[in-house]
Amino acid sequence: MTENRHVKVLILGAGPAGLSAALYAARAELEPVVLTGMQLGGQAALTHLIENYPGFPEGVGGAQLGELFQKQAEHFGAKVEFDMAHEVDFSQRPYKVTTDTGEYFADSVIISTGASSVHLNVPGEVELTGRGVSYCATCDGWFFKDKKVAIVGGGDSAFEEALFITRYASSVTLIHRREEFRAGAILQKRANEHPKMNFITNTVITDIVGDDKLKTLKLKNVVTGAESDFETDGLFIFIGHTPNTEMFKGKLAMNELGYLDVNDKMETSVPGVFAAGEVADSHFKQVVTSAGMGAAAAIQATRYLESLEEETADS
Ligand code: NAP
Repeated sequence: MTENRHVKVLILGAGPAGLSAALYAARAELEPVVLTGMQLGGQAALTHLIENYPGFPEGVGGAQLGELFQKQAEHFGAKVEFDMAHEVDFSQRPYKVTTDTGEYFADSVIISTGASSVHLNVPGEVELTGRGVSYCATCDGWFFKDKKVAIVGGGDSAFEEALFITRYASSVTLIHRREEFRAGAILQKRANEHPKMNFITNTVITDIVGDDKLKTLKLKNVVTGAESDFETDGLFIFIGHTPNTEMFKGKLAMNELGYLDVNDKMETSVPGVFAAGEVADSHFKQVVTSAGMGAAAAIQATRYLESLEEETADS
């Protein structure tokens, strides 16, 4: 099916930033359309429990929070479409966005396409993904009931997800390339005190080995150079994220890491195109900060559209 559609505000991505933008744009009666892309709810929906989003003293499931965001935006008239944008043309207004189902023409665009998991890029990783290697504890943790699991990474994600997997696995070993961890103190304390958690530091994975499923990780100590084998049923990789900005290369200004440049009004280098959430934030990357950026982008998009109307009225 190919359709051509004209909207006032088109939002690319349905994570905390996109759905918060949708809520604000809907309440401004701009009838925003949100294209979900591959991941409704964004990365947050893959997190089993979010304990630092205000208003939920006991924490809230990531998927549940995404559903609540969506419901609230839809309540005020936002439309959420299961569709994927592939190409953008920001050379003239209305801006053209080509998707799986056709083309959208939009007076303003809010980009909230988020970020994707970074891969280790070692032999065996691609072949054994889904056969013991995973990037999502919420999706795959259950498969490792009473099994041995390794985690790679030293940030909040690695610690948070490692602790989640202790619910299922018989043991969880966190492998990190340095001695110090980036993860916050609370998470480190919880992990250190957990009886199922073990730590291997100053160590990298050089090879992921298995036939139809993962069997062994080849490890190398970066201080001593010593090599060893680590038998495991599962490997979860949490070594950071890279922004989903491929489609905007050459069309919008971005930094050397590929994050979109925005000013304090969430404006990108093209007037009427805004960005919010992790796609434009390499620093904070929190659900609450992404939601705030989404709200700010929608407020500014509303002002932008009003200024266009004033221009038209004056001419
Ligand atoms: P991150 O903070 O960037 O940490 C990535 C970790 O992976 C680092 O420890 C890094 O090691 C390691 N790493 C990177 N490349 C590697 C490689 N090729 N091989 C081995 N190890 C590698 O990423 P994140 O943990 O996904 O967190 C991203 C952001 O989300 C952070 O701002 C974090 O605070 C936030 N976050 C917050 C929460 C929360 O507040 N509850 C939960 C999840 C995420 P080095 O330390 O040596 O660089």
